[in-house]
Amino acid sequence: MLSWFAKGKRDLPWRRTRDTYRIWLSEIMLQQTRVAAVIPYYERFLEAFPNVQALARARTDRVLANWAGLGYYSRARNLQHAAKEIVARHGGDFPREYGAALKLPGIGRYTAAAVLSIAYDAPYAVLDGNVARVLARLGAVRGDLRAPAMWRKLEATAQDLLAKKTSGDWNQAMMELGATVCTPKSPRCGECPVEKWCRARKLGIAEELPAVRKKRPTVEITLSAAVLLDPLGRTLLVRQPDGDGALFSRMWQFPALETLGTDTRAALANYLHEKWDVARKDALAPLANSRHSVTFRNVRLEPYLVRVAHLPNTTGVRIVPLSNVRRMSISNATRKIADAAIAGLK
Ligand code: SF4
Repeated sequence: MLSWFAKGKRDLPWRRTRDTYRIWLSEIMLQQTRVAAVIPYYERFLEAFPNVQALARARTDRVLANWAGLGYYSRARNLQHAAKEIVARHGGDFPREYGAALKLPGIGRYTAAAVLSIAYDAPYAVLDGNVARVLARLGAVRGDLRAPAMWRKLEATAQDLLAKKTSGDWNQAMMELGATVCTPKSPRCGECPVEKWCRARKLGIAEELPAVRKKRPTVEITLSAAVLLDPLGRTLLVRQPDGDGALFSRMWQFPALETLGTDTRAALANYLHEKWDVARKDALAPLANSRHSVTFRNVRLEPYLVRVAHLPNTTGVRIVPLSNVRRMSISNATRKIADAAIAGLK
């Protein structure tokens, strides 16, 4: 595994460093996001915040703006909280102790093991989806790999196999094998460095493993949003609080309503009227709809343009030129709505 990795590993920017900040940043960005998509964000983020101190003292809005487009913004907020703790309590260095690393916001068992092994060769095995698949095939393990008892077993297997003195390279080799050779579909067993030890290969069941998980059913949501516009071309944004149902928590967004019924325009007009006394149903001009997916939610975006003489300037709102909205730290959904409004004005 180690010589296979040394010979053929992909040249990725975070593999050219032992700087814990850079390794940690890459691991956070790579959660839920593909390698190719991460690279430009990673490089831009490091230009803006070249070290943990710069990230710790930055304005959160700026951090989110540099994260915009990657999604799952809680990752960016946790990253900055952790940076502040690292500067305040660990002298600016990512902690070497597994327990201390786990206490940082946004750091779970996988990330702690990944950063400590890659940066310090600390003897902790990683287990992510790629490694779990490799292990399941090597041992011809059936069943749902994400079931808690099964996951614990796989963690123990990963830890047993770990090359403890070169744990960073070993962990990366396991992940690389899963990402490039032992892929979910059509694994390339002929190119695999551990083929002769693989039980699934021997049994001819590599493609059947791991068992397909039951997917959480997709929920369809309609989000009606109001782009209020005053005669100066300014619009109003609100910030949604954190919470389970919050789609774009703590991001600036257009006033919006999750609607289930048929007359979404009337529901949105009522909402605006009750909140700020600004609109009646016929004042809402439909804009182009679009779609947006957030994990298991399939969101239909239904924006409306609402021309008003004055924008309500109450607490918790932000008034900005509509043409500037795109440059703010906003979700992709809000960006799509801003685009629809700008296109609707042409
Ligand atoms: Fe995966 Fe095939 Fe290698 Fe087994 S032999 S670990 S199934 S690539």
